[in-house]
Amino acid sequence: MSKTTPDRPKSAAAFERAKRVIPGGVNSPARAFGGVGGSPLFIARAEGPFLYDADGRRYLDFIGSWGPMILGHCHPAVVEAVFAAVRNGSSYGAPCEPETQLAERVVEAVPSVEMVRFVSSGTEATMSAIRLARGFTGRDLIVKFAGCYHGHVDSLLVSAGSSALTHGVPNSPGVPGGCTQDTVVLRYNDTAALADLFAAKRDAVAGVILEPVVGNMGLVPPSDEFRRTLRALTQKHGALLIYDEVMTGFRLGYGGAQGLLGDTPDVTCFGKIIGGGYPVGAYGGRADVMRKIMPAGPVFQAGTLSGNPVAMAAGIATLHELKTNPPYARLEQQSERIGSGLLAAARAAGVPVQFNRVGSMWTLFFTPTPVTDLDTAKTSDTARFGRFFWEMMDRGVYLPCSQYEAAFTCGAMTDAHIAETIAAAGESLQAVARS
Ligand code: PMP
Repeated sequence: MSKTTPDRPKSAAAFERAKRVIPGGVNSPARAFGGVGGSPLFIARAEGPFLYDADGRRYLDFIGSWGPMILGHCHPAVVEAVFAAVRNGSSYGAPCEPETQLAERVVEAVPSVEMVRFVSSGTEATMSAIRLARGFTGRDLIVKFAGCYHGHVDSLLVSAGSSALTHGVPNSPGVPGGCTQDTVVLRYNDTAALADLFAAKRDAVAGVILEPVVGNMGLVPPSDEFRRTLRALTQKHGALLIYDEVMTGFRLGYGGAQGLLGDTPDVTCFGKIIGGGYPVGAYGGRADVMRKIMPAGPVFQAGTLSGNPVAMAAGIATLHELKTNPPYARLEQQSERIGSGLLAAARAAGVPVQFNRVGSMWTLFFTPTPVTDLDTAKTSDTARFGRFFWEMMDRGVYLPCSQYEAAFTCGAMTDAHIAETIAAAGESLQAVARS
């Protein structure tokens, strides 16, 4: 197994320098390679499906900034739109029409969303959505599911996925008990637990928040029964159903996970793709719920850079491209090929794995156990995953640096890139089997 040092000396030096002035050398823990050992690559530039590191090596990028770059890096239409916008000023702190234009696109794409409010990150979107659920219902209790990550919101940082899981931080220091006392954590896909909770708490639940397809414990799809029960019980008891589509929005289809599954949540959170690689989040939903937000209603939420014109321009260009030249059918096909290729390679190498996938989001779990929730995800052999990760890296394929993250196929990848990835996986899995 090779690690960043000494194979990638410039990245290694950049990391040492960064660690002196930035905690852990990174501005978000998911980037720190905590789940695979070694130190992170420092990226010098990106183009199409490729990342280029500080040492001049090229990688096929299956992270895409953890989801936003569905069109690949530097898509010409997005670059043009950003240059044009920035010439008109970077931020006004006053309304501008691109905000409405992006809002109209979101409302048109996602039928459950009648109105939308822009913020600057996915964390802000989920934080604001649960405040809205509480303000709308006049109740306090929020239900979440173990392994779902909704950003670093105090009250949702309980049994969270993504880097909170990779780094073994189920509950962060600095989150007072009072912040989480109104958060109930249930097992994902556990319909019976959901029914028990509503039987016990019935009219106390303000909202239920979930990733409708989970990316943050690795890829885990919901069962039909789980989704149906969620909608039925929230509706029956007057709780809001909140879909966190920060990852899945405009990724699993132009209408997101809910479009793919045929679901109608009350509130939806967005991020990543709607900003086209710039800092944008959003939450939207039923008009009667959204009208509770200030200044239309009493629930406070604000932001200096919310609706930033440059970020709006990137989002509009990205959504325009996704609508007029949809990549989804090809992404489905290519991701399906990756799945069958990886499974065949694992069988040939004698390495037990599970391949979970929905659309262009997927995870290869190193476990013989089917993965349906956090407990089964944790049966994975993370040391084996780490070896696989570095073998792939050495073959020019950049995968998420944790077993508990989803990989993303992007629209700039060609069939040849997919074939290269499968060939690299074949060699890598043989190496994993030998080690
Ligand atoms: N919700 C989900 C489902 C996410 O995947 C993420 C980030 N990976 C967030 C919320 C938080 O978004 P951000 O990092 O932009 O705050």
